[in-house]
Amino acid sequence: MLDFSNEETSLSETLFHNANGYIGVRGTLEEGVPGDYDTMRGMYINGFYDIIPMKQAENLCNFVEEKETMLNVADTQTIEVYADGERFSHFSGKTLSGKRILNMEDGITERTVIWESETGKKLNIDIKRMTSFHELSLFTIEYAVTAENFSGELEFKSYHKPKVRNYCNPKDPRLAAESHDHLKTIISCIENSISFAVTETEKSRLKCATAVAHEVNKSNARICTTEGEDNIITCDIIVPVKKGETVVVTKYSVFTDSLREKDPLTAGRNKLKRILDNGLNYYYGKQKEYLSRFFERAMMEIDGDEALNKAVNFNMYELLQSSAKDSHGNIAAKGLSGEGYEGHYFWDTEMFMLPFFVLTDPDLARMLLRYRYETLDKARENALLLGHKKGALYPWRTITGVECSGYFPSGTAQYHINGDIAYAIINYYLVTGDLEFINEWGEEILLETARLWLDAGNYVKGRFVLNDVTGPDEYTCMVNNNYYTNMVARHNLLWAARFYHMIKETASGKKLIKKIGIKEAEIKEMEEACKNMYLPYDEETGIIPQDDSFFSKPVWDLKKTPRENFPLLLHYHPLHLYRYQVCKQADTVMAFFLFDDAANKDTMLKSFRYYETITTHDSSLSKCAFSIVAAKLSLKDEAFSYFGNSAKLDLNNMHKNTKDGIHTANMGGCYMAVVYGFAGLKIGESGISINPFLPGKWTGYRFNICYHENNLHIDVKKDSVSVTLLSGSGTGITVCGKEFTLKEKETIEVNTNA
Ligand code: BGC
Repeated sequence: MLDFSNEETSLSETLFHNANGYIGVRGTLEEGVPGDYDTMRGMYINGFYDIIPMKQAENLCNFVEEKETMLNVADTQTIEVYADGERFSHFSGKTLSGKRILNMEDGITERTVIWESETGKKLNIDIKRMTSFHELSLFTIEYAVTAENFSGELEFKSYHKPKVRNYCNPKDPRLAAESHDHLKTIISCIENSISFAVTETEKSRLKCATAVAHEVNKSNARICTTEGEDNIITCDIIVPVKKGETVVVTKYSVFTDSLREKDPLTAGRNKLKRILDNGLNYYYGKQKEYLSRFFERAMMEIDGDEALNKAVNFNMYELLQSSAKDSHGNIAAKGLSGEGYEGHYFWDTEMFMLPFFVLTDPDLARMLLRYRYETLDKARENALLLGHKKGALYPWRTITGVECSGYFPSGTAQYHINGDIAYAIINYYLVTGDLEFINEWGEEILLETARLWLDAGNYVKGRFVLNDVTGPDEYTCMVNNNYYTNMVARHNLLWAARFYHMIKETASGKKLIKKIGIKEAEIKEMEEACKNMYLPYDEETGIIPQDDSFFSKPVWDLKKTPRENFPLLLHYHPLHLYRYQVCKQADTVMAFFLFDDAANKDTMLKSFRYYETITTHDSSLSKCAFSIVAAKLSLKDEAFSYFGNSAKLDLNNMHKNTKDGIHTANMGGCYMAVVYGFAGLKIGESGISINPFLPGKWTGYRFNICYHENNLHIDVKKDSVSVTLLSGSGTGITVCGKEFTLKEKETIEVNTNA
């Protein structure tokens, strides 16, 4: 039975959102909620934003003065239903039964309800919603109502509101503090009962067009569409019904925008025409086909824990829903499910979500990386703003590529974003072998980010150091030689130079060298900086300190910190936190995941044990990294325990903020914990290898991945692991230390007990 408390209703808005990477629609109740509910009634377009001033009380040189924010673009989801004038609502009359379903095979959400009005009229309601993967502009609501115990009149009032506002919460730094009026309606009209509207944003001057049409399954329906105040368009549908009769209203909403279309209104009109010609069932069919291809490529099954199996598949589905399907957008920290973090893209994409797509849909991964290429010029400008003479510095959080972080110590100072993007490009290359991408786009990014390191760092006693940066752990800011940052910078420098030598004689390589004026001397400098990169290490303890000053600080007493004071960021001034050894998230441990030859096993183990005691995991990005590294260190129980319930973080609302949107990075992180952690997948220059174990009470697990255009199926059982080459021209693979060559359709099996 559905729970309609404020808390559960807003949580369901996130969990039952529909998205396809272009549009996202919160799962709000069509009929609305009481006025004092904390609802976020949102519909979003990936990459669609406006600019808002960022108040800096003390505006120092080149501080960020404005930021981009993802906009709530329209409301086409409101539908009120009346039975002989009595309005359906879970907050009046009686809800006799009700459930909400997410059907991941069909790609729809559904709400089924039996409701009785105050005078005893019973309605059987079934509402299906879909954002189409086939036609990205399309959102549909199929609203079926049966008059169970009466004959009379059913009325549907369906709204198209072009002018809406964003949600805000001044008390939570993870949400926008204020809500502005960003949208102005510049066109609204009704043509043959179909409504069209175009809005324009106040500052970014982007346009969004929405077109809404209705179909009713009854020829005796009276339909009247009118425009009222604030350009709110109402489609009023009145249908006489006999007892037991079902009325189905299908609402088609089409979204287009001026980032992607020259004339969004015409594009929307044409799309809607085509959609109405095809009909809803056509799109239901296409949705199913699309998802069956997706779940084949990205298949993952876990035996022995059905709830977890479902959660892992839910997470993969959410990643697909969240990911842009063109390079105008990317993957926001909350996908398209809510306004937490204002629709900004972070390092989350490259380090947590992209690995999933690289292994399951390399074309989509390539496109996500293209977004960083499209924003490279802005990263160059950002580097100049920060005083660098050369190179590119990617912003910490952004939509179009400009820095949108107002608090630079834990924002802009996170220079590791450069190394993360470089790492992702290199990883993409190692998994796919796609040198063309490197030639055309990747190497330009790598060289410009490597140039930035050269400019940001300097030599001290022959060692290359990077001062005043912030690592991923936001409870320690502005430090010298953050281990994680220096590690990713080193990797970035190494591969920028390596790819340079690989492509310098090719036509596109020559073009690139000319374009960015890179000299052999600079490449030498990169190689030198890489070779001499300083990496902190504490001789006395044999542990890797997070940065140069980390061990000179007192250890925060986590045991004495009251439970209600977590996450610490909501209860302590940042400066207070910076003065302690306390970590919000995996930092050094994350570096061990990325570079498993970073240090010897003893150092890694000691360091891992140390960071375990001082990490709060206040960030949802943390536990998966601990899980993977525990697995690498053969700490199987710990690996499983860190993995724990993190796959259900949103389903169980474990961070108590899922109402603001899903935690996409955690979802990607859980996938990685299975594939890189439990299955021990490694892909490097020397090829691909796996070394799996069965965690906890699992009795088996299997998944598909793509490596160099070979589709592999990996099946881990109690005593064995098998690898099948489903399709592809063949590949070598090392399984539990043994080398094999696999031909198409061939399976190899290795006894894991031997
Ligand atoms: C984490 C960051 C992350 C951001 C968005 C923060 O809580 O500390 O590492 O990028 O959330 O998910």
